[in-house]
This record gives sequence, structure tokens and C-alpha cells, in this order.
Amino acid sequence: MARRRTEAAEHIAALLRTARSALGLSLAFITRLDGDTQHLEVVESVFPPIFRDGSTRPWHDSLCKAIADGKLPAVIPDLRKFPEAMRLPAARIPRIRSYISVPVVLSDGTTYGTFCAAGFGADKELSRRDEALMRVLSQAAALIVEPGARQRARHTEIAARIDPVVAAGGPDIVLQPIVDLASGRRIGAEALSRFPRAWASTPDRHFAEAHEIGSGDELEILALRRAAELLEASDDQGYVAMNVSPNTLLTPECLHALARMPLDRIVLELSEHQQVEDYDLLKGALAPLRAGGLRLAVDDVGAGFSSLRHIVLTQPDVLKLDRSIVAGVAADPVLQVLVRALTDLATATGAAVVAEGIETSADATALAGLGVAYGQGFHFGRPDHPARLRDRY
Ligand code: C2E
Ligand code: CA
Ligand code: CA
Repeated sequence: MARRRTEAAEHIAALLRTARSALGLSLAFITRLDGDTQHLEVVESVFPPIFRDGSTRPWHDSLCKAIADGKLPAVIPDLRKFPEAMRLPAARIPRIRSYISVPVVLSDGTTYGTFCAAGFGADKELSRRDEALMRVLSQAAALIVEPGARQRARHTEIAARIDPVVAAGGPDIVLQPIVDLASGRRIGAEALSRFPRAWASTPDRHFAEAHEIGSGDELEILALRRAAELLEASDDQGYVAMNVSPNTLLTPECLHALARMPLDRIVLELSEHQQVEDYDLLKGALAPLRAGGLRLAVDDVGAGFSSLRHIVLTQPDVLKLDRSIVAGVAADPVLQVLVRALTDLATATGAAVVAEGIETSADATALAGLGVAYGQGFHFGRPDHPARLRDRY
């Protein structure tokens, strides 16, 4: 079945038709080079077509490579005059007798592939002027394929990092203590994913990249599973807070995975960064899990996203105050008013408040004074290996 062409492919096809008709040849096509494979991405040919869009051929014994290597000229009016060409499989493709191939070069100087035309008969008229036209058309084609090429390269680069993590069963998980501000006693811990240090970025970035290449849901669910395994391995009675994005949460795979976890010891943290598209859907999907004891937290409250509406519609068990309204609260009257207001809101709706990003004892004391019951931050403990958390608290 013929594949539907993308808009970019349609533009390329127009250039190929120009090449084919201006040169009076039977066939014109653009190839993308990938290792030893030439992808004939778009093919414009007289009927009947001998290649289709997306067909592939080996590069090493192609006419294009012989031309690129300088073993054959870019313009070949009659293949039969070149023994080198006649030895190649392309010469056995029904009646290809004339050929012209120029490289497609991207703006960074890398070669994308080739821009070619071929005739089923010898064509003595084929000339250097035709090559000049092909080069101009090839430059136009390069502009069109460039965005797709960049995206493919990015996809490949991300997959090279994410795929092995998925294959290994997910990221490593560290735990950060969540404490009762009045007693200092640990009541739970937040599970945070850790990726190789060399990636030099925060986990939320890696999850976002995984979503870009379609692996995000799987990666998030693996992280949830790993966090749940920690719960099962520990004999203390605290809860584990786990992060999940709303869209991943709504996948059947995620709901299914959660349903098999010890729900009454899990707080699910939904960030405000990602928009919830349909609160009724979310509510419906979560209802059986919440009935099974799962608690829901709204993460990053006060970070300046959809705040109040999100809180009201999610009906969370826990509000997590974002570091941006927590750090420095002891010395900032405006933050104090904000924290007090959010704490009152939480109390009125029966939700508990956890302040995160507490780095000083002054802030911890101030927060307790403002009615915040629980806290999390470097002041109490950094995210650390699960075994060390248990040793310390
Ligand atoms: P988050 O859920 O808001 O997690 C809290 C972040 O604050 C963590 O960053 C934690 O290390 C950091 N933090 C905790 N206490 C302090 C403090 O006192 N001071 C400062 N400056 N920072 C503190 P981390 O581990 O880099 O995680 C960043 C984000 O990545 C998380 O933000 C969360 O949105 C996301 N993330 C991490 N693990 C997972 C996961 O397994 N699944 C999903 N979906 N997202 C995750
Ligand atoms: Ca969180
Ligand atoms: Ca947070």
C-alpha cells in the first residue's frame, strides 16, 4: 500500500518532478544514508514505478557511492561506457542506462544522502549543466529535510541514553525523608529517580526527553515499580511518595501497576507542571485506587502554575508547598502570608501540608509556627540510598 506522504515529502516530490521533467529522465529520487543503508525516501517515476517511497538498498555497491567516491562521474549519459558502473547491481535494475547523482548536504556540512535521477535509456544529452540544476534542487531539498534530520538525530541521541535504563528495569531510586516538624520524626519518604551522573541534568528533564521519544510512560511506570519494591522490602510503617505525570497515570498500564501495590502506604504526587486535561477522567480512574487507600498529593503548590483550580479539582490528601515559597520563609513576611493562606486552605479541605525545600532550622521553625505539619528538605536529609535512610531515622 502506498504510504501517505508528509508535507515535507510532498515538497521534495515537487523538486524531484522538476528534476525528472527538466532532464527528461524516467525516475528521480532522494536518498537518506544510514550506515550501509540507502533509504529511497521519496521516489518520482514514470509508470510502472520500480521503487516505492521508503524502499531501501545497500549503499556499498550503489551507483551513488561510486559517484561520491569519485570512481564515476556525477553525470553518466550511458552506463554501458563505464565497466565500473556495469559491475554494480544498479546496472541490472531493468534498463537503467543513464544516471545523475549529487549529494544532499545539510547546513552543518554533514551529508544527508543523495539527490538522483535515472533514465531507462542512454541519454547523450545529459550534461554538466544538468548537474548544476541537480545541485540547486538538492540544496532546496536539504533545507526541507533538515528539520526532520535534526529531530531524528535528537531521537537517536535520547534513545541511546534512555533505552539502556529501560532495559535495566528503570532508574535507580533514592529516598528523601519527610518529617513531622513538631517531633522531627520521619513519617515517610519521597522516592526520586536517579540517572547516570554524566547526563548532568535533573530527572524531570530525563522524563521529559523519554516522553519525546515515546518511552516516557514506560520509564515512569518502571520508576513507580522500583519505588514500590522499596516499600515491600522495608518493615517500617512510613509511606513512600511517588511522582507521576497525569498523562502517564491515566494509561491502563500505570493504573494496572498501581492496583497491585500496597496502596495504603503510597502517596502519589501529581505535579502542577503538567496540565490535567480532564479532571473527571482522572477522578474516575483514581477512585478505585483511592478507595484502596492510595493518597493523592498535589506537588509544587505555589510554583505558579494552575494552583487553586488544580487543587480544588484534584481534591488531594496532601499539599506539597514548592521550594520557591518555602526557602527563606522565616525572613519573608509575604511568603509567610502565602504559606499561611495555603495551610488554611488545606485545613479547610482536610488535606495535610508538606513543605519541601527546607534548608535551614529557621525556616523549619517558622513553618511549624505557620501551621505546616510536615517538612522535607536538605535540613532534614538529602535524597539518599534507601538503606541509609533506614539507618538514620
Ligand atoms: P520534585 O518532585 O519537586 O522533587 C523535589 C526535588 O527537590 C528533588 O529534585 C529533590 O532532590 C529536591 N530537593 C529536596 N530538598 C531540597 C532542598 O532542601 N533544597 C533544594 N535546593 N532542593 C531540594 P530532583 O531529585 O532533582 O528531582 C527533580 C524533579 O524530577 C522532581 O521534582 C520530579 O518532578 C521529577 N522526578 C524525580 N523522580 C521522578 C520519578 O520517579 N518520576 C517522575 N515522574 N518524576 C520524577
Ligand atoms: Ca515530588
Ligand atoms: Ca515538588
